[in-house]
Amino acid sequence: MNKKLYVISGSSGVGKGTVLKGFLDRNPNFMLSISCTTRAPRQGEIDGVNYFFLSKEEFQNCIDNDKFLEWAEFAGNRYGTKKKYINQCLADGKDIILEIDTKGALQVKKQMPEAVLIFIAPPSFEALETRLRGRHTEDEATIQKRLNEVKVELERAKSFDKTIINDDLESAISQLEAEIKNA
Ligand code: ADP
Ligand code: 5GP
Repeated sequence: MNKKLYVISGSSGVGKGTVLKGFLDRNPNFMLSISCTTRAPRQGEIDGVNYFFLSKEEFQNCIDNDKFLEWAEFAGNRYGTKKKYINQCLADGKDIILEIDTKGALQVKKQMPEAVLIFIAPPSFEALETRLRGRHTEDEATIQKRLNEVKVELERAKSFDKTIINDDLESAISQLEAEIKNA
């Protein structure tokens, strides 16, 4: 059976990481792609585990040398998925999940139409804002930049294959399992 590529997107703070952790704990056969970013590590984040943390110059060098399957600028930082990393995982026979922004997701779909795009939506804008603030990982200016992206993200979500509302966490994890099983 051909191995598949799944792309999970959603606004910052919606709970992508939390839902995915629940999914991966129950489905350890899936690989989560590690992205590159120019963002500074948050407390506790480890290079090569959470992200490959690159300088702006290193990231530009990867763009110039066509190393990325997709990349995008999000709220003032750059994020990208290395082609080599994805191709290696697929060659190793692993199902792979990308947790990337909506612009990047649509770039992936263009290049790999078989990719399954799943959008995680919040129960309301207020709940999203509460979660993003409650995480205490961003300063106020960064929170505002991220909230400013929400409208356009919801617009892009219309081109996704599926949308899951992350209201009750357990239910969102089960829905993700069901969508991936049925894809
Ligand atoms: P993202 O990866 O989308 O930026 P996170 O997974 O970091 O979001 O979640 C943001 C915050 O929301 C975290 O504090 C997390 O514990 C909380 N959260 C996630 N899912 C839910 C949920 N279903 N209900 C309430 N809080 C949630
Ligand atoms: P954060 O800074 O909160 O880790 O991530 C911010 C946004 O960047 C999230 O929407 C996340 O999904 C997205 N992101 C993470 N890695 C990538 C990537 O490789 N490519 C793209 N396009 N977006 C990414």
